[in-house]
Amino acid sequence: MKFSIFRAPDGQGEGSGTPADPTEAPRMGGQVLPGAVSTDRREESVLTPGVAPEVPEPARKGATTSVPKPPAGAGGPVGPTKIAARDVSVFYGDKQALFDVALDIPDKSVTALIGPSGCGKSTFLRTMNRMNDTIGGAKVTGRIEMDGEDINAKSIDPVLLRARVGMVFQKPNPFPKSIYENVAYGPKIHGLTTSKAEMDQVVEASLRRAGLWDEVADRLHSAGTGLSGGQQQRLVIARAIAVNPEVILMDEPCSALDPIATAKIEELIDELRERYCIVIVTHSMAQAARVSQRTAFFHMGRLVETGGTEEIFTNPKDRRTLDYITGRFG
Ligand code: ADP
Repeated sequence: MKFSIFRAPDGQGEGSGTPADPTEAPRMGGQVLPGAVSTDRREESVLTPGVAPEVPEPARKGATTSVPKPPAGAGGPVGPTKIAARDVSVFYGDKQALFDVALDIPDKSVTALIGPSGCGKSTFLRTMNRMNDTIGGAKVTGRIEMDGEDINAKSIDPVLLRARVGMVFQKPNPFPKSIYENVAYGPKIHGLTTSKAEMDQVVEASLRRAGLWDEVADRLHSAGTGLSGGQQQRLVIARAIAVNPEVILMDEPCSALDPIATAKIEELIDELRERYCIVIVTHSMAQAARVSQRTAFFHMGRLVETGGTEEIFTNPKDRRTLDYITGRFG
């Protein structure tokens, strides 16, 4: 049986051990990932018994001071740390879903959170804009800093935090309003504009940045829900961008989209990373490899390994990461 280090694109071969399409060489920043071109070579170099990497104890315990020590991991073309999580645990009632997660998320880059279903990726994503606060019975412990500031401090207004740390969900969720109003909503409630002309500019700039302007410029007052799934997802991204976020969290943003719409969102993510800190949960390893500079692998509520995406996919240090990326579980 052939294994592939990368799984098939969304929805294909998930959890079945089905090999990915070997013609779909994973790419990172336009480059085909080393070791990802020939499935045969991959099989030899990664899966031959005896050459699998050693299994070190994952570095997940971090400092609890306000100047956190970065966890181990590879470098890469990324900005300075934007978000630092230390000793983050999350409980739903009596059940602990996340255990002592320590992770630095760099600015101006994409960090992918990967791991089998139920391992805590979405739970961790939600800690970064306090969305877990909205879930009854959920409790978050530990420390999360954005630009050195504790986001769980009493002085932080979660509504304002969620404007700074926007979120895009699996299923596009435009408001039942016009395209224009969807984008104008945030700037309006946060009082970011003072005139109609200024609002028009914000709406246009946000739609342009989300790669949607050309497709909707002549129907700004039509319902946002009338757009295609991929367009709706870009509309939701425009809505997030309109309030000048610093971070954009994306929870499987392409899982409800077809491959063409997925490719457009991935292109957009690649453009947006020049300006924003982006964190994406994805169950598609090919997608993680295509869009992210850093990858964090979660398993059973624990952060097992983090590093440069290329390093994680070609030379994982932990056996569990290797097993996951080679499709042995997931
Ligand atoms: P992933 O995103 O990796 O699929 P999740 O973060 O959604 O994982 O879930 C991690 C664990 O927390 C799972 O066991 C899941 O059942 C549980 N969980 C997630 N959300 C809730 C919730 N709102 N209430 C109770 N348990 C939850």
